[in-house]
Order: sequence, then structure tokens, then C-alpha cells
Amino acid sequence: MSGSIKVVGFGPGSFEHITDRARQAMVTSHVIIGYHTYVDLIRDLLVDQEIVRTGMTEEVSRAQTAVKLARAGKDVAVISSGDAGVYGMAGLIYEVLIESGWNPSESLQVEIIPGISAINSCASLLGAPIMHDACTISLSDHLTPWETIKRRVEAAAMADFVIALYNPRSGRRTSQIVETQQILLQYRSPDTPVGLVKSAYRAQQHVVRTTLAHMLEQEIGMLTTVIIGNSTTFYHGDLMITPRGYQRKYTLDQVEQRLRPGERLHVENEPWSLRAVQSKENTPVLTKQKASMSATLDSLQLAQEALSRVQMSATSAQQSSTLLGQVNERSQMAVQTAPQQVVDFVVAVAPGVANKRFTAEQLICLADLAKDQGEVHYTADHQIELRIKTEDPQAVVDQLREAGFYVFPVGEVVKVKACDFCDGEKAESIPYARELTNRLGGRKVPKELCIGVNGCAMACYGAVLEDIGIVYRKGKFDLFLGGKTTGRTACAAKLMAEGIPANQIVNLVEQIVNEYSEQAFPSERFHKFFARVGIVAGFSYDKTTAPVVVDTVCGT
Ligand code: SAH
Repeated sequence: MSGSIKVVGFGPGSFEHITDRARQAMVTSHVIIGYHTYVDLIRDLLVDQEIVRTGMTEEVSRAQTAVKLARAGKDVAVISSGDAGVYGMAGLIYEVLIESGWNPSESLQVEIIPGISAINSCASLLGAPIMHDACTISLSDHLTPWETIKRRVEAAAMADFVIALYNPRSGRRTSQIVETQQILLQYRSPDTPVGLVKSAYRAQQHVVRTTLAHMLEQEIGMLTTVIIGNSTTFYHGDLMITPRGYQRKYTLDQVEQRLRPGERLHVENEPWSLRAVQSKENTPVLTKQKASMSATLDSLQLAQEALSRVQMSATSAQQSSTLLGQVNERSQMAVQTAPQQVVDFVVAVAPGVANKRFTAEQLICLADLAKDQGEVHYTADHQIELRIKTEDPQAVVDQLREAGFYVFPVGEVVKVKACDFCDGEKAESIPYARELTNRLGGRKVPKELCIGVNGCAMACYGAVLEDIGIVYRKGKFDLFLGGKTTGRTACAAKLMAEGIPANQIVNLVEQIVNEYSEQAFPSERFHKFFARVGIVAGFSYDKTTAPVVVDTVCGT
């Protein structure tokens, strides 16, 4: 004549967040067993249940009492806050039962009733900080060796998990959170968002948004859960948000998407996936047709490969001033081991930095290269792109450069768009445009970034509309930042500084690009990045451009 044990997670503390099943289990039990504070939290739900309440460190005696009463025929509810299976009573009840010789086929039935754990309730008050891989770590070393806890903190920090710290500090345990912060700072930026939630969904609820550097200046206690963001977590006003990664495939401010539903799972649109990595690693020497179908390298990688091959050849030494992005060690390796295969190859070509005139030979060269299955494409950005299938990107680049072209990778790279300097008549600032192109043109960035360079105050090539615009005027440069050329929120860049000495401009623009590369989210446009971080290279984002709403279409 055994009774039952229900181990009930009653959520963060408010009645609305108790599940129906948990409520029913508590009100239909004969006995409620719990820690004083927890019993107080749910007391108003109870009718005539016998109550066994014990102190903080009395979990084992609570579990033993529950087993004893259940064996005597009582229906017992053992209560935990949050979820009973997360640093709660569920595991201990099973352990004590097993010690007493119990097995699941016995008549004494056990049910674990899930509840909303602190990681969920606290996250909901902060925004959406655990949208990506997250873990919980309890900093209590009463039952777990501190060395183990430290190792777990370090592993989670290293692996870029969002981390929810339970039991972060008590009256006597004060230094664990300090050491934890120090470990985290070895792997994460001091600006990493950190949310502190005390007594979520209880009368004393208190929410603090801070950062990894400043979190210890705030009150943290036994009723607090500390949520540490990962390297992509950001604040939007009061909201702490961790992106899931949609921005890699979707343009979130547009209804019309670049990829159709059927294309979203194609391997070439998920170059970060295991499938894509495996298909690169395992590509055997393929027949031409098969290879062209399975080619997954993006055009930037191909262009980089092509450049590295060119650079390794003797002729490239003389031509090193021409451009094709940066070559990294990995792409050099890839060149040495890559099998010959037909690939889709896309490069942008230009007759010069300032020179906009294509010679007849150059047009013939493009036509020759494109003639079978390729095409020459004039882009919305006024660029000429050559799109062809080839087994040998290096030979294509060689040929283009021989024809006097500048060759650039396409994709998420820096584009330097210079004017024609009044057909070369206003030549003074051309060297700066060249230097910028040499240093930054083709550099990989989180999202395509345009640097406009105009040689006089007319700025007729529209530098002031680009992500970064520089305009030469009276021997110095004016700097514009944050233009957005498309979409309903399109806007010109803002004038940030006038009269920057010409010898400082290239370094300054490079610093801006560096900050963007280091701090922007994947696929975050410069404009959005600037608005989010507020300051780039010491220049502040101007928030004062609320749109004026006009009813009439023609404005009269
Ligand atoms: N079983 C519970 C956790 C118990 S451990 C659960 O799943 O939530 C106790 C720790 O949980 C506290 O130190 C605190 O870090 C966290 N916690 C529990 N309830 C909380 C609440 N309402 N608000 C904030 N943190 C809470």
C-alpha cells in the first residue's frame, strides 16, 4: 500500500508561472515537503495539506522523509523552485530511493513535474539572451569542488556559451563570482552584456543590465541569477539579445529575400555547415561536369586562391601593385592541395582607380573570357563583374591583369569607389585613393562595405552616400560616415569631420574599417553597426534624423 512522490518545480515564484500539472499535484497531495521560503511562496494554493518544512541545508532529510511517508501510503509533493531537475530535489529523491532498494517497477510511483527554471524566467525579463547555445553553472562549492567549477567556467567561456550562473554569491561565498569574472575576462570582451536578475517574478524582483567589466559593482546575492552574453550578444536599449544567426541568410529589414525557400538549405548557401566543410575536404578529382555542379568555394576564396597562385609565380613580383584582396596562409595551403576542378568564378574588374575608360583590347579580353558560358555583368553598384566557369582561376586573373585590369574579389569585402578626378585633371588626391585601394580594397569584412573617394567638393560620384565617404577639398579631406544607399531607411552619410590632413586620411579610414571588422556582427552593415556602437574611431553616431511624415504624395 505505497503512496507516491511527485517532485514539483513550481517555477520562479508567481502563481501565473506554475503549470497546471504542478498546481494539481500540490493540491491533491497529502503532504507538502519543502524549504521554508518555497513553502511560503505556494502556501496560498494549499487547502489542508500536511506541511513538512525544513531549512536550507536539509535536503537529504527532506528526501528521506518523503520516501518514508510515501512508503507509508501517503501522496507526497516535494517542491523545488524553478525546475526540480535543475539544482533541485529530483535527483536527490531518486538517489535516496535507490539507496533504499527501490526500483521503478515498484508500486511506489515517482513523477517529476517540470517547471520554469531561473535561466528561462530571468532571460525573459532581460530580453532574449539565451537564443543560442547556453549552459548553467552553479557557483556553489558546497557539494562540488571549486576546481571543477572553475574548469567548467573556463570551458564555457572558451566555447562561447551564453552562461547562466546560479548560486552566484552568498554571505560567506563571496570570492567565487570574482574569480569567475576574471576567468571570463580572459575570453570575452569587458563590454559583454551581463544581466543580473534577482527574485524573478517575485515581489522583490530587480533587474540590472550591466557588462562583464562592471558586474561586480552591482548587488549580487543568493536570489540572483547572472546571465553572461556570448560574443554576439548585444543591448538594444534595455533589451539583451543574442542573435540566433538568421542574419547569415536573411535580410531582416526586407520582405523580399535574397534566397528563396528552396535555396536556403542548399549547401552553397551554408558554407559554415558540416556538410559544406565535408564536401570541401572530401572532394576527389571529379569529372568536369560533376565538379562544376558541386563547386562550393565562394568567389572571394577563389579570388584569393587565384591571387596566391599569381603571387607564387615569378611574374607576379613585377605586378604586385595590382590588387586582389589579401592572401592568408590557409588559401596558400588550399592552392597547393586543391584538385583542378571547374568552378564558378566571379571577379570585379576596373581599368584603374581613377581611370574609368575601358580600351578596346580590354573589352575584347572580357568578351573572350566570357564567350562560352560566362557573362559580363554590370551591377547595381556600377561595377563590371566577370562571371565564368573555369578550371584555372589563376590563368583568368593573369589574363585580366595582362590586359591592364585591376581585379577585385566580390562578396563581403571592402570596395573602394573613386571618382574619375575630372578625367584625371584634378589629380592631387589620386595617390590617396590608390593607397586606400591597395590597403583595403578586397579586404574581407562582415558585410560589403563601400568607401567612396571624391577628388573635389562637387562629390559628383556620390562619396557622401556611401558607408564611408571622403571628399578632397583645399588640400584636405572631409569625412562622411554611415550612408545607406538602399531600403526605406536610405540616407546619406553624415559629415563627421572637415579638413583632415591628407597624410592622415588613409590611416584613419583603415582604423574605421578595423573597428568595423572586429566589432560588427556577421552580416551587420556598417550603417547599423555605427548606430549600434555609437562611436567609431572617436566619431559619434548622429541620432537626430527622425523621418518627417508627409501625407500627400507630391508634397504640395
Ligand atoms: N531549481 C531552481 C534552481 C535552484 S538553485 C531553478 O530551476 O531555477 C538556486 C539559484 O537559482 C539561486 O541562487 C538563483 O541563482 C536561481 N534562482 C532561483 N529562482 C530564482 C528567481 N526567481 N530569480 C532569480 N534567480 C533565481
